[in-house]
Amino acid sequence: MAVLKSLLRSRGSTTCSSLTYIRRTLSTASETDLKLSSSLNHMSLPLRKDPKGRIVQWVFLGCPGVGKGTYASRLSSLLGVPHIATGDLVREELSSSGPLAPKLAEIVNQGKLVSDEIIINLLSKRLEAGEAKGESGFILDGFPRTIRQAEILEGVTDIDLVVNLKLREDVLLAKCIGRRICSDCGGNYNVACIDIKGENGSPGMYMAPLLPPPHCASKLITRSDDTEEVVKERLRIYNEMSQPVEEFYRSRGKLLEFNLPGGIPESWPKLLQALNLDDHEVKQSAAA
Ligand SMILES: [Zn+2]
Repeated sequence: MAVLKSLLRSRGSTTCSSLTYIRRTLSTASETDLKLSSSLNHMSLPLRKDPKGRIVQWVFLGCPGVGKGTYASRLSSLLGVPHIATGDLVREELSSSGPLAPKLAEIVNQGKLVSDEIIINLLSKRLEAGEAKGESGFILDGFPRTIRQAEILEGVTDIDLVVNLKLREDVLLAKCIGRRICSDCGGNYNVACIDIKGENGSPGMYMAPLLPPPHCASKLITRSDDTEEVVKERLRIYNEMSQPVEEFYRSRGKLLEFNLPGGIPESWPKLLQALNLDDHEVKQSAAA
């Protein structure tokens, strides 16, 4: 815990390593990188701090299906910082008539990964818009996904903490296969009921299903890519891609590994504990 506390240190001001960044980017940066740089530099003042005086410029990592979005979103409302999910940015751009929409539609329809350039461009636009509204701090979800993205981010702003959410692979698989969508209203549900008995000293795990209301129950469909085979492949690709990014932050002493002990009711209080936060304190600080 002492390591974590020193990791979650308080700081008075931002210390962007701008010089190193500029030196490196003079030779390699694209226009979008520099745009992100300027946007993030502006963005870092004034800094949003949590009740412990820590700067909240956090990143959430975790494989698909782990519930990363849920925890990132809960924490962002608790701490009053924006939850910025690059997946949402891509979806918003797609449904808009923005300049990148046609190109994005083509990439997504072909099932390809959206490039670093496009993601950085979207993130940069999002941060600028937030800055204009007086936002500060952030919890990033789905970014950085690659070492290159992590390096760009590091060059322009201090990431204070990277939370890596983990869940047992068998449970993750069951949760992904249990996903259902209501074909009528689009509601998301999960029919998987995880109930693993603890054995040989290892703890059990219970995760309740998220069952649909009666009017949705007969209209549930499964996404065609939520089969065991596809989910396993998705996890394999995720692990392969994310390991270097995890290592990047681990080597900088910024990675907090958090093994989810179950569903939200079990995990949320433990996550707050691991972050050295508690609900009560955060609410008091928000009211002050
Ligand atoms: Zn429905």
